[in-house]
Amino acid sequence: MITVSNLGFPRIGAKRELKRALEAYWRGEATPQQLQDTARALRERHWKLQYEAGADVVPCNDFSLYDHVLDTAFALDAIPDRYRALADADPLAGYFALARGLQKDGVDLHALEMTKWFDTNYHYLVPELHAQQSFRLRDDKAVDEFLEAKALGVDARPVLLGPVSFLLLSKTVDGSDRLALLDRLLPVYAEWLGRLRDAGAAWVQIDEPCLVQDLDDDDRAAYRKAYGTLAITARPKLLLATYFGALEGNLALAVELPVEGLHVDLVRAPEQLDAVLDALPPRHVLSLGLVDGRNVWRTDLDRALALAERAQARVDAGRLQVAPSCSLLHVPIDITLETALPFDIHAWLAFARQKIEELRTLGDALNGLRSAHSTLEVARERYETRRRSAKVHRPDVAARVAALDAVDTQRKSSYAQRRIAQARRFDLPSFPTTTIGSFPQTQAVREARAKYKSGKWSDADYDAFLEAETERCVRFQEEIGLDVLVHGEFERNDMVEYFGEQLDGFAFTKHGWVQSYGSRCVKPPILYGDVRRPAPMTVRWSRYAQSLTDKPMKGMLTGPVTVLQWSFVRDDQPRASTCRQIALALRDEVLDLEAAGIGVIQIDEPALREGLPLRRVQWRAYLDWAVECFRISAAGVADETQVHTHMCYSEFNDIMEAVAAMDADVISIETSRSRMELLDAFVRFRYPNGIGPGVYDIHSPRVPDTTEMTALLQKAGAVLPTEQLWVNPDCGLKTRGWPETRAALAAMVSAAHALRTA
Ligand code: GLN
Ligand code: ZN
Repeated sequence: MITVSNLGFPRIGAKRELKRALEAYWRGEATPQQLQDTARALRERHWKLQYEAGADVVPCNDFSLYDHVLDTAFALDAIPDRYRALADADPLAGYFALARGLQKDGVDLHALEMTKWFDTNYHYLVPELHAQQSFRLRDDKAVDEFLEAKALGVDARPVLLGPVSFLLLSKTVDGSDRLALLDRLLPVYAEWLGRLRDAGAAWVQIDEPCLVQDLDDDDRAAYRKAYGTLAITARPKLLLATYFGALEGNLALAVELPVEGLHVDLVRAPEQLDAVLDALPPRHVLSLGLVDGRNVWRTDLDRALALAERAQARVDAGRLQVAPSCSLLHVPIDITLETALPFDIHAWLAFARQKIEELRTLGDALNGLRSAHSTLEVARERYETRRRSAKVHRPDVAARVAALDAVDTQRKSSYAQRRIAQARRFDLPSFPTTTIGSFPQTQAVREARAKYKSGKWSDADYDAFLEAETERCVRFQEEIGLDVLVHGEFERNDMVEYFGEQLDGFAFTKHGWVQSYGSRCVKPPILYGDVRRPAPMTVRWSRYAQSLTDKPMKGMLTGPVTVLQWSFVRDDQPRASTCRQIALALRDEVLDLEAAGIGVIQIDEPALREGLPLRRVQWRAYLDWAVECFRISAAGVADETQVHTHMCYSEFNDIMEAVAAMDADVISIETSRSRMELLDAFVRFRYPNGIGPGVYDIHSPRVPDTTEMTALLQKAGAVLPTEQLWVNPDCGLKTRGWPETRAALAAMVSAAHALRTA
C-alpha cells in the first residue's frame, strides 16, 4: 500500500488565530496559558483536518509559536549570552526576546537577524553561534508535541531540522567556521532522536533542504559525518527530506547517507525522478513530492500519477509515499472559505486541505481503488477548463508579447546624455533630496479606506479625503524644502495589491493568508491569467499631486519583478513570460505618466534579489529576464524623463551587474543600518548612475539627527562623486507616524543643506 503523507502544515490558523493569540500575549492581554491553549487547539484541529482530508502520515513538531529554526536553536540551547538570563528565568519570554528583541525596564536586547527561508517569502531567525558554542537539549518541544498527538490518537511523524542544514542556516558572530561545531552538535541530535524513539516515534522526518543547493567539499563531508554518526545511535528511522529543487550533483551524496528514506521534490524537479530511482538503495523508503507546496493551483493529477507509476514500477508499494513537494507552510489552509472568488477561478485552486485531498486521490488511484476514477475525472475537467479559459488566455496579450522584439528596451541615449537633458529640465541642487514614496498610513487613512470598501463612503467622499491627505503631504514636503516630491501613496493598501486590483489577470482571496514571519502574514494576489491594463492606474493621483506644486512630482510604480515575486503566480507558463506581460502593462503606465507631465518616475523593485534561483548556474538566466522586464517597463521614455528605482534589504554584491544593466537614472537603496557598508558594492563596481544611499532607518521610530545623517552622507561622499549622490530615507514611510516623519525628514533636508554649503 502506498501511503499519503504530509511534511508540514500552516500554523497560523485559517482565521489567523495564532496571530491574534500571539499579539494579545505580547500586549500583555493574554496569559502564557491562554497562548499555549490556542496553540494546542490549533495543533489538534490541524491533525484532525489532515486525517479527514486523507493523510495517513501527519507531521508533528512542524508547529511553532514563531519560527521552526528558532525552535531548533532554542531546543539545542544555541542561545546568545545576552538572552540567557531571561531564557533561564522565563523560557517563553526568552524565546520571544530572541525573535523580537526586548526593550523593557532598562533592558535592551536586539532580536536575532531575520532572513528569507530559501527562495520563499517566509523569514526565519538566523541562529547566532560562535567558536566556543556548546549545545545541550534545553527543551522537549518535539517529544511533547509527539506525545500530545499520541494522546489524541494521532501517530504523528516528528519533523526536525537536520543538523547540517541547521548549521548552514546559522551564522557565527566571530567569523569562525559553522561546520566546525558539528562534533559538538551531533551528540545532542543523537540524544534528541533517542528521546523521540523512547516516546514511541517510529519515524522522524529530518529536513535537509540545503541538499538542493550548491555544496562544497566541506559541506559534503559534514553530511557524511553527521548521518554516519547518527546511524550508529538508537533512533527512529529517518526520512531525509529535500525540497525546493533538484538534488542534481548532490543525489549521490543523499543516497549514500545511512538513513532509511528520502523525500524528493518532483514539482520543482520532476526530471530528477529517473535518476533518483536508479540511485535509490534497495531498502529505502521513497517519498514522492507530487503536489506543489509552494503554489495554489490544483495539480495536474494525470501527470502526477504518471510520475508515481514510474516509481511504482520499480519500488514496491510498501516503500512508497506520496506527499506535497515541501511543507504546506507556504499556502493558505482551505479554499472552501473563499466564497467571493469567481466560481471558475475557485475551482482551479487548492489550498493545504485540498492538496492533501489530491494526494489521497493519487494514493487511492495508485492502490487500485476504483473510487479514485471519478475524482480523477472531475480533476481532469477542472484542469481542462483552466487550460482553455478565455480569462486565462487573451490573444491580444499573447500578440503583444510575441511582438516584444520590436519594443525598445534601451533608452534613447546614454546615461551621460540623459543626465545633461535632465539637469536642464529640473535644475536640481547638488545632494537632491527625495523620499521613497509612501507617507504615514495613519489610522485615519485606514479607516477611510475601510469606510469606502464597506460602502459607507461614496467615491466622492473617499476622493475628497484622499485629495486632502495628498495636498497636506505635498505642502509639508514643500515647507521642509524637499527637492523631488511624492504624492504619499494614501490611496494604496499594498504595493502589489493596488496594481493587481487594477490589472486583468489577478484575483484576490479573503482568507488566503500565509505566514511571512512570526505573527505577520501576507495575502498574495493570485495571478491566474494574461495580464492586461484596461485603464491608467496611477495617473489620476500623480497628475493631481503635480497640479499642486511647481516642484517635480515623482510618479510611483511597483516594478514587474516585484509584482511577480509577491503573488501566487500561474504555473502554466514560465515565470519570465508572466513577468513580460506585467512589464508591458507597466510600460503603458509609464508612458501615460510621462504624457501627463510627470517628469520623474520611480519603478520599485525591492523583490528583485529574492527571485534569485537557489543554484548559481540559474542566476544568469533569471537576472537576464528580470532586467529585461524592468527595461521593458522603463525604456520607452524621453531622455528628459528621469527614471528612478528603489531596492531595500538587498545584498548587492551578487547582482551588481544586473542592477547597472537596469540603467535607472537614480537608484535608492537601504544603507543606514549597515552604516553605508552596502554602498561598497556600488563603489567597487563603479556604478555610474545616480545613487541615493538611505540615510535613516524607517523601520524604527527613532529619529536620527542632522549630525548623524550628515556623517553618513560624508561617508558616502568620500567614496562616490558628489554629482552621483541623492539624499533619501531607506524605504517608504508608511509604517511611521507623522511626528517622527516630520522631524526626521526636516533633519535629513538640513543634512543635505549642510553638505551643499560645505
Ligand atoms: N514606494 C514604496 C513605498 O514607499 C516602496 C516600498 C518598498 O520598498 N517595499 O512604500
Ligand atoms: Zn523599500
